[in-house]
Amino acid sequence: MKKLFIVANWKSNETEVQAEEWFRALKNSQITTNKEEREVIVCPPFILLSQAKELVTTSHLSIGIGAQDFSPFDSGAHTGEEPPALVKEYAQYAIIGHSERRNELGETDELLANKVAHALQQGVTPIFCVQGIETPIPEGVSLVAYEPIFAIGTGHPDTPENAESVIKAIKAKTHVQYVLYGGSVTADNVQTFTTMPAIDGVLVGGASLDPEKFMKIVENA
Ligand code: PEP
Repeated sequence: MKKLFIVANWKSNETEVQAEEWFRALKNSQITTNKEEREVIVCPPFILLSQAKELVTTSHLSIGIGAQDFSPFDSGAHTGEEPPALVKEYAQYAIIGHSERRNELGETDELLANKVAHALQQGVTPIFCVQGIETPIPEGVSLVAYEPIFAIGTGHPDTPENAESVIKAIKAKTHVQYVLYGGSVTADNVQTFTTMPAIDGVLVGGASLDPEKFMKIVENA
């Protein structure tokens, strides 16, 4: 049985109260997560990372925590940046290179390579987002998410066949071990992706905010 990653990207959403409800719902569910076979990772906004760690620990949840970005700087005089040494206390993973940040903030391939290098230096695993085979993947990345722009938040996912062929091509061209699919994943379509041989899981945006919907995705994956 191949290992599957199911990653929840909350983006710029959720309050403390909603986060508490989300983790409570997960704890009360019958979902079993076993990091060796099915790794669930939640990526809340930075400001909720500490609360997420506390809730995961006190509820004995077997899920990982990810940041949604990683600073390209060492800790120091970088106003507004999240200190890498602090982020690593809460997050084992960091989404880097999401197309929303590339498009809205103009993040470049060079900047993203720096972010990856800093995450790796801190022992944080990047979940590096690419839009297709052409997107450069920095050295040291082992976990990638293929997220075609047309599929993000549109309700129009890529076809599992096309996602499979892009992901196969990424694996053939690089040393990346795991490649996930992301873009309009729901409980109804998740299995069409996860049953494809080269696809190692899913990155879920919108449908990860509602704990019931997200748990259904985990269950059906
Ligand atoms: C995302 O933004 O990473 C994403 C996959 O979003 P959605 O699931 O909402 O398409």
